[in-house]
Order: sequence, then structure tokens, then C-alpha cells
Amino acid sequence: MSENRGWMYKRGTWEEIEDPLVWEDGDAFETVLDRGGYEKQADAGFSGTGTGSLPSDIEVYKKKDDSSYLAFVCYNSSDIENIVLPDYPSLLMFLREFAPFLTLESILFELQELRTMGEKAFQAWHGHDCAMMCHFCDPVGWEREKQRKREQAEKKQ
Ligand SMILES: [Zn+2]
Repeated sequence: MSENRGWMYKRGTWEEIEDPLVWEDGDAFETVLDRGGYEKQADAGFSGTGTGSLPSDIEVYKKKDDSSYLAFVCYNSSDIENIVLPDYPSLLMFLREFAPFLTLESILFELQELRTMGEKAFQAWHGHDCAMMCHFCDPVGWEREKQRKREQAEKKQ
């Protein structure tokens, strides 16, 4: 018996339903899909990086004997939402709703990569973290800081 719940997304309306798939111990994913009447190969797959509450992966499977679909929205390998899309318009509306998440995910991932690369390059170049400064990367700030320290030292005397 599966303890998972599922969702029905019908043309913009969400409804909680029982898990559309029956899982038994030791079942391969393909076996479970086949038992549920779905194609074993995903019709479509979309990837993100899965940070925070954003999905890492969405896979869409078509049901063999009608025109419904099943979408798996994965947040990590063990946290999965099953979403039944009863017809093609529902599938398109569902993908339209989730597309910005995945696009944003890809953008955030790429930005993070660039940022890490930039920080490493900066560290190698200046010998200090990019949040700090030296007389090369911030001559004005560096002079101001030296001035501030001089004034502090004078006050103490
Ligand atoms: Zn510097």
C-alpha cells in the first residue's frame, strides 16, 4: 500500500487525490509505471538544480490507453510529487505554470557557477576575499581606511 498522495491538475485546478501509482517493495520505477498503465519512457523531461523549494526535475509520462499524463515533480531523489494531468490542455497549462521555475533554476545555477569562478579568480589575483579590499582593487576605500585608523590611533594618544 502506498502512503504517497497525488495531485490532479485539471485545466488550472488542483485537487488532492490518492497516489496514482502502486508501489511495492523492491519495485523498479518502470514496473510501477507499467502497472499504472503508463509508458515506460518519459515524453518529456526538464531539469533544474533543486535548490530550496524549487524542483530538480520534472518528467512527464503518457498513459497508454487514454490521453492523460502523469508528471513527476522531483525536489530530490526521495521527495516526489505525482501529478495526474487528465488531458492535453491540462498538460500544457501545467508546463506553462512550471516553466518559469525551471528557467529560473537554470539561470540561478549558471549565475552561481559564474560567481564562484569570479570569486576564485579574484582570490588568486588579489590574495584576499572579494568582500575585502586592498590598495589595488579599492584605492579610495583603502586610503579612507588608512586615514580612519590614523585618526583612531591619534584619539587614543
Ligand atoms: Zn584587492
